[in-house]
Amino acid sequence: MAWWRRARRWWLGRHPIPDAWAQIIDDDVPFAAALPAAERERLLALTSVFAREKRFVGAAGMEVDDRVRVVISATAARLVLHLHLGYYDRVYEIVVVPEPYRRPDQEHWVAGEAHAGGSVVLAWSAVVAGLANPFDGRDTASHEFAHLLDAEDGAFDGTPTLRALGHYRPWATVMDHHFRALRRGRKRRHKVLRHYGATNEAEFFAVATEAFFEKSSQMKRHTPDLYEELRRFYRHDPAA
Ligand SMILES: [Zn+2]
Repeated sequence: MAWWRRARRWWLGRHPIPDAWAQIIDDDVPFAAALPAAERERLLALTSVFAREKRFVGAAGMEVDDRVRVVISATAARLVLHLHLGYYDRVYEIVVVPEPYRRPDQEHWVAGEAHAGGSVVLAWSAVVAGLANPFDGRDTASHEFAHLLDAEDGAFDGTPTLRALGHYRPWATVMDHHFRALRRGRKRRHKVLRHYGATNEAEFFAVATEAFFEKSSQMKRHTPDLYEELRRFYRHDPAA
């Protein structure tokens, strides 16, 4: 991390989040209310830095106000609550559109997309719907920000930068095992992971991240080795 960026984060981290922003988190970010006090404070600090540091752009008639900026920043901060914002260093732009959209060349609706260059598109209605039900394993914002964590090392390959060399081998073994099982359509996995995760390794990681945060107890019970790899990466034990 460039020293000036570190200095800026230091400065921002020590300038408390505006009261209005903390209020937005209390009102519109349900998962924040469930956090212990110390974690909530850290979420507020990371959210505050992310919201000020990144460029938010409204498109297709979307107007980006403080609520949009703060809610989306909180979803990004959630993933790195026990890591650090350096995972988002490549992220420079968050494009927000009002509703899911359809590409001219595609059949299905798109609620978000992440690009390797560091930009992400999010449909605001999908972000809100994802937050409204925190236990269904569907969360557009977590999904797209997981892609950006994955791409931080330059590749959408389902493996973000792990903290120790020794973590890669068990990670690869466990991810591959569950990815293949999902592809084969094993029922046990379906209780926890959306089938969309069978698309490729990158989608598997993004879908597994949604489930890790929203269906943590089920994941821990049904696929404890998968839960353990994600716990070790995120340094967080949401099922505890
Ligand atoms: Zn995806």
